[in-house]
Amino acid sequence: MNANEANEANGFEFDNISNTAFEELQMIEQQRQDELLRSQQTSASTPRNVNPNPRQVVQRPIRPPKRAKTSSGRGGVSLAGGRRRTRTEFQEDIVGLGKRTSPVWDHFTIVPEKDDNDVVISLHAVCRHCKNTDYRAEGHYGTSNCRNHLKSCEPYQEWLAKNGDLIEAIMYHGYPLSMVEHKFTRKLHRYLNPKVKNISRSTITRWCMRKNSKLRKMLFETLKDLDSKVSLTCDIWTACTSRGYLTLTAHYIDKDWCLKSKVLNFCHFPPPSTGHAIYELVYAMIKDWGLESKVMCMTVDNATNNDSMIPLLQECLNDGLKAIDPAVTLVRDNVKYIDSSEARMNRFRDFYTEPDYTFKLTDREWESVENMASILEPFYEMTNLFSGSDYPTANLYFEQVCKAKYHLRRACESEDACIREMGN
Ligand SMILES: [Zn+2]
Repeated sequence: MNANEANEANGFEFDNISNTAFEELQMIEQQRQDELLRSQQTSASTPRNVNPNPRQVVQRPIRPPKRAKTSSGRGGVSLAGGRRRTRTEFQEDIVGLGKRTSPVWDHFTIVPEKDDNDVVISLHAVCRHCKNTDYRAEGHYGTSNCRNHLKSCEPYQEWLAKNGDLIEAIMYHGYPLSMVEHKFTRKLHRYLNPKVKNISRSTITRWCMRKNSKLRKMLFETLKDLDSKVSLTCDIWTACTSRGYLTLTAHYIDKDWCLKSKVLNFCHFPPPSTGHAIYELVYAMIKDWGLESKVMCMTVDNATNNDSMIPLLQECLNDGLKAIDPAVTLVRDNVKYIDSSEARMNRFRDFYTEPDYTFKLTDREWESVENMASILEPFYEMTNLFSGSDYPTANLYFEQVCKAKYHLRRACESEDACIREMGN
């Protein structure tokens, strides 16, 4: 692999190098050349200085000699002609200076060492946790020194316990916080790392809360910068301990067009769980996250208290959440009523004709519902067609979009005001 290929493989773009960096590197390189030439003149008589394979020199650009060795290696010979390095050859060094893919670099700061003329002569890796190391950090020195240091660096081990895998495991898998005090968990940790320090439940709680507030801040910033609207789902349920809980989840499309779902709030929700109480809590949460103008729709389960919460929220959130035709609500109530037991389902026709049945629709409402169904049915079919996963959907796109446009235009011309509004 030559230098170009190596750089391509590293995903490095040559054009990204700034001129200043290039000039600085040229100066470093000039210094190296002078130094190597000098050292070569002093030891030119020894035959091992002669490069046995000059072709290799072209393929592998010159690198600075390692500190431990004398400068009489292959690099010295390649510079015998005193030629200046090409831009391509500099590139490899810049890859070494700039591109750090190894995760160890999260824990080391790269400190450049400069000479009297303010020219960078070497790079050093200093541990961010103990500030005690001084390893060479040019790309070709590798990362084994740094990795070995982390294994024995006590501040790093402490940091790892505070910020790392244990908190993630607890938060993502929902382990009880008391797991850190469990006898056999501690035994396992000791087996993996004999130097591990055991922590208490209160400590891990504190660390988890710290991590939580950090993540909340990040999510807040993400939502603030979001271009798309946010849809919410809200769920209330009673746990086996008979305490009520409320969860508010946001669903949105991020800048990379990926659908994201994030739990915004999860909290204890004591009775009474009336519509007004839910509204007050949910609206406070929405306000807290700065989402008042970004909510597109909200999905809740079919509890009656939610029915009274939604209109209250609608008043507050101007955008989104459009009015639902009362006839549709009646149809939903009917479905809810007959769905709740098999006996009701069987006798639906009988009691629907009774005069005191609550969810009865007038002829006008039936007509409205039928119109709406005829408009919405093609969209339902289109959605099903597009969401198929075992056949290609791209070829169906144009035809279905045309159909959608046709149906929307038909809806705009409808006599029913509600359908006209939907079409618009
Ligand atoms: Zn350290």
